[in-house]
Amino acid sequence: MAETYNSFHRRSLQDREGFWREQAALIDWERPFERVLDYDRPPFARWFVGGRTNLCHNAVDRHLQARAAQAALIYISTETGVEHTYTYAELHREVNRCAAMLQALGVGKGDRVLIYMPMVPEAIFAMLATVRLGAIHSVVFGGFAAQSLAARIDDAQPQVIVTADAGMRMGKVIPYRPLLEEALRAATHPPRHMLILDRGLDKSSARVAGRDIDYAELRAAHMNAQVPVVWLESNEPSYILYTSGTTGKPKGVQRDTGGHAVSMVASMKHIYCGEPGETYFATSDIGWVVGHSYIVYAPLLRGMASVVYEGVPIRPDPGVWWKIVQDHKVSVMFSAPTAIRVLKKHDQSYLRRYDLGSLKHLFLAGEPLDEPTARWIADALQRPVIDHYWQTETGWSILAAYPGVEKTPIKFGSPSFPAYGYDVRLLHEGTGEEVADNEKGVVAIVPPLPPGCLTTVWGQDDRFVQTYFTSFPGKQVYSTFDWGIRDAEGYYYILGRTDDVINVAGHRLGTREIEEAVCSHPNIAEVAVVGVADKLKGQVPFAFAVVKDASHLNSDAAHAVLEREVLDVVDKHLGAIGRPAHVFFVNMLPKTRSGKVLRRSIQALAEGRDPGDMTTLDDPAGIEQIRAAIDALNAPR
Ligand code: AMP
Repeated sequence: MAETYNSFHRRSLQDREGFWREQAALIDWERPFERVLDYDRPPFARWFVGGRTNLCHNAVDRHLQARAAQAALIYISTETGVEHTYTYAELHREVNRCAAMLQALGVGKGDRVLIYMPMVPEAIFAMLATVRLGAIHSVVFGGFAAQSLAARIDDAQPQVIVTADAGMRMGKVIPYRPLLEEALRAATHPPRHMLILDRGLDKSSARVAGRDIDYAELRAAHMNAQVPVVWLESNEPSYILYTSGTTGKPKGVQRDTGGHAVSMVASMKHIYCGEPGETYFATSDIGWVVGHSYIVYAPLLRGMASVVYEGVPIRPDPGVWWKIVQDHKVSVMFSAPTAIRVLKKHDQSYLRRYDLGSLKHLFLAGEPLDEPTARWIADALQRPVIDHYWQTETGWSILAAYPGVEKTPIKFGSPSFPAYGYDVRLLHEGTGEEVADNEKGVVAIVPPLPPGCLTTVWGQDDRFVQTYFTSFPGKQVYSTFDWGIRDAEGYYYILGRTDDVINVAGHRLGTREIEEAVCSHPNIAEVAVVGVADKLKGQVPFAFAVVKDASHLNSDAAHAVLEREVLDVVDKHLGAIGRPAHVFFVNMLPKTRSGKVLRRSIQALAEGRDPGDMTTLDDPAGIEQIRAAIDALNAPR
């Protein structure tokens, strides 16, 4: 009898070892594991203990026998006009060359390689080459600016940075080099070498002799390289990916090797229904977790072709993604609600123009999927649109439908059910008790976390425990810091964050990070940043800043100049993704008598809602200033 969603999920928790042993057979092991799970030191879970494997072997070498001539990466840049398909044999050659290049620059097992690249195939060669050598990659999103990059350099202390002369967005060249130089100056642990891919986009930046190495030149010296894979014990780290939290300092989410490989390939089978030989298209960027998991690892581990796309969804026209689906017979697609909301502003006919017969499903994640957007895209595609919910920390779905097991009905607005391996509970914020159906609670996971989830915070085991496992009194459970609700049929709904993290176009930003950037302006004494609902991006940051010296702020023009300066410092620290949509200048912030800024009240006012209980307010003038600033913004001009 076919297994149901329910029995599959139950089995994954009641017979954890049997269930994951079965999934582990989806990858190659150089040496079999001795134990499926070691949970002797909660909440640290160690999966497939004693087994030796390698991600690059499983993603590339393993497929050479059956599918050497099959496409592995389909590269399409609508920015530069470059299109190139790499077969598994070609990918294998490029990864070997890149591994030899990294070796020549001193990279060995356990070393970190920081990858700061646009969407180019070389970025993926570098990721796979790094794990081939048993080294650890730390990919930093190309849109992050100097200070963010410097913080990540200092935390990961890479041996090498792999980068490019420039990225390109909407036809505009974005030189990487000036930014990198600034980051290296700010870092206390700059690496010895930078491996630079010259795309011929930025001719202005000079190289530093001895430090800077040209990718093409070094590649030419390693054309016939054959670099053996370095087998790792399953729990040895494969990568670090930084993510924002409530403190100003991003956390390095650390992923293991064996658990990660098994979780990826299993999710491709049970959740996405991607089969070997088919084509997968995730519209993300390798700088984000979706890019790691579903542009690189899961499709390649499963023997699929992965579309690597540099560009935006509406250039040259809003049909560009759907033309790719048609031309490359994409069978599964993964995108974000924001991208669909961008498309929704255009005519549905752009989607109808193409033969989408190959497409089985569209998966969406990263932020709440509103019902009108879900209906619009489902109607345009005439395919199941599946919302699923996860985090950088987990690396794959916490909540999802899994049509590979059972085609359960989809309810718009809900990412369905707990994924196999996850013991999900909704807990009362204060007591930690489980809430009833239709009652709001914090989405929590009873550990051990399943394979593929973060194993710790890079170099900070204490922070891992402290951050994620201490939210509820007397209970060591993982908090997602999201509110959720479950209906009587077991469908979950995500209601937003419980902390000061906001989600802009599917990207997580700590309001604290933006506040620190704004405060680096010499004339800003204090600031509160809140996320405000936005039709297109989900949320956008608004900043309310207290100016040190307001004597010059006596005209609209003076306000505009200071606002520009503040936006510039944010651009410099975090990049444009952290840029507030508005900066308001006030004399004071609303605070409690104990000095806590009332961020939730500020946010409520900015969204036109009731600010709530004001009895703890120290001085009513604080909230009145916020109200006046918002009224002025909304007043007709
Ligand atoms: P990130 O780690 O940057 O991918 O952000 C993870 C956060 O994005 C989660 O904690 C949620 O707040 C939000 N998120 C991700 N997927 C969904 C979804 N399907 N529905 C609602 N929120 C989501």
